[in-house]
Amino acid sequence: MENLLQAWQEVATILKEKIQPVTFNTWIKPIIPTDLSDTHITLQVPNEYNKTMICDRYNDLIKNSLFLVLGKDYEIEVVIVEETEEIEVKEEKKEPVKFEETNSMLLSQYTFDNYVIGNSNKFVHAIALAVAESPSTLYNPLYLHGGVGLGKTHLMNAIGNHFLKIYPDKKVMYVSSEQFTYELVEAIKTQKNADFRNKYRNIDLLMIDDIQFIGGKASSEEEFFNTFNALHQSNKQIVISGDRPPKELHTLEKRLRTRFESGQIIEVAPPDFEMRAAILKQKAEQFNLNISYDIIDYIAARITSNIRELEGAIKKLTAYSILKGNNSSIDMETVSECLKDFNTIDPNLITEETIIRAVEKYFNLKEGSIISSRKTKDIAFGRQIVMYLMRDLLDLSYTAIGQSLGGRDHTTVMHGVEKIDNFISNDMTIKNVIEDIKKNIKNR
Ligand code: ADP
Ligand code: MG
Repeated sequence: MENLLQAWQEVATILKEKIQPVTFNTWIKPIIPTDLSDTHITLQVPNEYNKTMICDRYNDLIKNSLFLVLGKDYEIEVVIVEETEEIEVKEEKKEPVKFEETNSMLLSQYTFDNYVIGNSNKFVHAIALAVAESPSTLYNPLYLHGGVGLGKTHLMNAIGNHFLKIYPDKKVMYVSSEQFTYELVEAIKTQKNADFRNKYRNIDLLMIDDIQFIGGKASSEEEFFNTFNALHQSNKQIVISGDRPPKELHTLEKRLRTRFESGQIIEVAPPDFEMRAAILKQKAEQFNLNISYDIIDYIAARITSNIRELEGAIKKLTAYSILKGNNSSIDMETVSECLKDFNTIDPNLITEETIIRAVEKYFNLKEGSIISSRKTKDIAFGRQIVMYLMRDLLDLSYTAIGQSLGGRDHTTVMHGVEKIDNFISNDMTIKNVIEDIKKNIKNR
């Protein structure tokens, strides 16, 4: 039992570095570890809400930290403690929210310096930098959206940290939408609405992360709407992130969505192969992990859609290398063992979809244009290349190719494949184009 508490202490220390103090105090601090078996750890929390938060939002983070401390994966079981007097006393001692707090809540580890730039994010990076350097000019509000683990939180904090370096006397506030809601509820409960307002309306740069979690709660939406308007009217910069574009935030009131749409909306897209490799290299350096380029390429080809997972893989390899003794080098076997826990794709598996997407991307065509009925010169040419590649890489029949291209006739496909065949024998440029696309397909 003592070991368990000690181990949990270490886990908590790791977690503390990774999340904001208030998040830590609200969700992690109340946890009491009660049991550790070979496969499971049991964590006790005070109520249903904490349980949901741990299971939905902090499960992976806790799992990774447990791995770093205990060197092995554990499933997390969360149980709710029976209400006892002891707990109630503890609850009372919980620190009240301080609204006069001027702490920016910025996460200092996320900066532009350690933000890797590649094809998929150079635009969003440029805009984020512009917002930090000349706030409230062109892009206000700035709305960043994209899937989990793609760097939204990192970018927002980089904006805040950079902004404070340039304008040290200005006020910045970075807050998750849950934290905002939590503070609002506390303010109402303790009749400190005015303090809450003062806190949020005296800010030069306000950043609200994961706005999708504010949706559906009338009071917090209303308050956020008012805060938003007050800041916007006094020409203060606002940055918001969400897991989808504003128009798809169905649970959110329309007037809020419309406000978000009045500024700059930009997607944080998944990284391409080169960028994934660059990120792995940077993270390995950060963790002092010695790995070869072969291994970097191997991981970059398999973890494709989430930067947090790329980072997780490096952390896990670091843990392995520490367990095995610092000097031992990481071999391929260890790497493939370690990747089992991540969402990986088999880079050797090429599908019709892969080919279509690769060609669309190469020629900068809109997603869906190849299978559409449009016949502009560039789309028609891209389509013929797709036909050729489906034949070459997948060995499909003309009829099957026609079908996967939105029901085209097999003679059309035959003609397309022949045309590209001819080009390849007579035109070096086209030959190189095809080679490039094939390379991209293999290095997704
Ligand atoms: P999101 O908020 O979109 O879910 P995060 O900002 O939390 O994603 O990013 C997940 C992890 O990936 C963080 O540790 C972050 O530092 C890292 N990360 C994301 N994008 C980059 C990047 N371009 N360069 C370096 N690290 C990145
Ligand atoms: Mg985030």
